[in-house]
Amino acid sequence: SEHTLGRLAEEAWNRFDDHDAVFSAGVWHRAHALAARARRMCGGLAEAGIGPGDRVVVALPNVPELPLALQAVWSAGAVATPVVPGAGDPRHVLTDRLRHVLADSGARAVVTSPGLEPTVRAAAGDVPVFAGTSELERGPERGPVRRDPGDLAVLAYTSGTTGPAKGVMLGHGALWHVARDACALSRQDGVDRGLVPVPLTHAYGMAVWLAGLHAPAPRQTVLMDGFEPEGFLRLAAELRAGFGAVTPAMIRTLLAEPLEDHPLPDLAYLTCGAEPLGRRTIAEFERRMPGVVVLEGYGMTETGAVTSFNPPGRRRVGSVGLPLAGHAVTVRDADGAPVEPGDLGEICVSGDRLMLGYWAGGRPGPGDAALVDGELRTGDVGCVDDDGYLYVVDRKRDAIVRGGFTVFPREVEDALDAHPDVVMSGVVGRPDPAVGQEVVAFVQLRTGAAATAGELAAWAAERVGRVRRPREVVLADALPLTPALKLDRAALRARLA
Ligand code: ATP
Ligand code: MG
Repeated sequence: SEHTLGRLAEEAWNRFDDHDAVFSAGVWHRAHALAARARRMCGGLAEAGIGPGDRVVVALPNVPELPLALQAVWSAGAVATPVVPGAGDPRHVLTDRLRHVLADSGARAVVTSPGLEPTVRAAAGDVPVFAGTSELERGPERGPVRRDPGDLAVLAYTSGTTGPAKGVMLGHGALWHVARDACALSRQDGVDRGLVPVPLTHAYGMAVWLAGLHAPAPRQTVLMDGFEPEGFLRLAAELRAGFGAVTPAMIRTLLAEPLEDHPLPDLAYLTCGAEPLGRRTIAEFERRMPGVVVLEGYGMTETGAVTSFNPPGRRRVGSVGLPLAGHAVTVRDADGAPVEPGDLGEICVSGDRLMLGYWAGGRPGPGDAALVDGELRTGDVGCVDDDGYLYVVDRKRDAIVRGGFTVFPREVEDALDAHPDVVMSGVVGRPDPAVGQEVVAFVQLRTGAAATAGELAAWAAERVGRVRRPREVVLADALPLTPALKLDRAALRARLA
């Protein structure tokens, strides 16, 4: 049949039939019930005048209505424009992001939750807002309209880690294939119940959701609305989850818990991505959570989320795994020539599963990802080993050039994070008249830890050498994170100014 997202869920839910498919807030939802609700919501959208090509902003937390809204939008032939509501108190972040996305995308409607309604209405202006799905679910049942694989399915906004979020146009066929390849690379027989705290409104979470729809056995998704380590451990134990999809920030928060008191014999693996995860963090987590394997993957909004993944049983710790079947990875030097295995360069991805392009307003800046002759220059620096495993070092634009030497913040952060007193660290460059940029490290210590700035500077110098060592270490209460929970290096640079 057509490789479109509307058909993907429709067919999966038919196959999974009366199996439990989604767990949320203490309740299981069966596949055929979800299918019927999505068909009604699709009818509701059509009655509201939403049709092929229309952008619909979906700003929902991880509740069952989120995958339903996505499915209804795709079935109506419209374009889903997901917005991450954000962790904690989302109001300010959500207002800014929503204003940006609404103005940039030309949205025709917004679907949100009753809880977020006031915030969303304040930002939405004249754009119609559906708060909750009950109004839409009064529509007549309607199945997916015909779409071509080349048609736009998602207008996804990047995380905005390095500047204003950029609109990325993703086609039905590309997302369908990325999800299938990701499922093939990650799925383990008999492991089909997953805990998903990463937002389905972000490229990573959406890929996890779509990959599950390709699973041959009924996939059971436990949606968590926000991440909180105790709740994660409790749900994993109660529901005997077989896998989980998390980020490095979540793993770091889990490490602050007494993991020894929470044995999870059913948990086979955690997928992890979205920002770098040091190999020492993986080692510490696996030592304290025996039986659980951390499988790192890598991707970006522009590649339909997943580019590479460490297959269970064939992983290489420290790498972000093997490229998906449909993605070819080439590492290139500054002149664009491919480098030898083991040599650093810019990670470039080609294949027919990339974004169709940036949407009009999303102009990438220097050092950002960009399409060059059909190949995506990711803006990330890394290398490939002899067996094709990919290693990511850092973003090109975050590199610090000190006295002619290039220092990647991640290398210094990895060294600092290995210190037993350190929760996490963030390294940035400070403009310096003598050497161009000086290496400065912000460090968050564990509560009660006694390490001094001087000791930490010496610890790092021993591991990264004299050139790359931080000249200044600043102890900080907490490091700033973006709504996608990534280290906010721009905010750190602002602290220096
Ligand atoms: P923006 O483009 O708006 O500045 P962003 O690049 O953070 O934000 P995303 O598309 O969500 O937006 O993230 C993709 C980026 O995340 C990649 O380009 C890479 O820098 C980083 N990333 C993702 N997974 C990993 C990983 N496993 N290891 C290291 N970096 C990763
Ligand atoms: Mg980016």
